[in-house]
Amino acid sequence: MIESAIVKFSSKRRSNLLKLQGDDTPCFICGKAVRTQRYWARFSDGGLAIASDEYADRPENIGGDMGCYPVGPECYRRLPDEVKMLVKRFEDD
Ligand SMILES: [Zn+2]
Repeated sequence: MIESAIVKFSSKRRSNLLKLQGDDTPCFICGKAVRTQRYWARFSDGGLAIASDEYADRPENIGGDMGCYPVGPECYRRLPDEVKMLVKRFEDD
């Protein structure tokens, strides 16, 4: 099992973030509002990678750990299977 994977961010992320309203919560990958927050990921390496907790918690990686953010269902579906394994489901917590 992999420990981290660099994420391909949507090219529309910034413009999507600017369209958010009120208390919308954005998907960290594409910036679109997430209606039902089911998937969360730990973003490490300054937010460039989805990582396991074990990876992000290592002393040498602490500086790049950004914490957990929602991932929308569309972006989750597009992740490679090995990266999906690093994503937390809401039901898990
Ligand atoms: Zn998304």
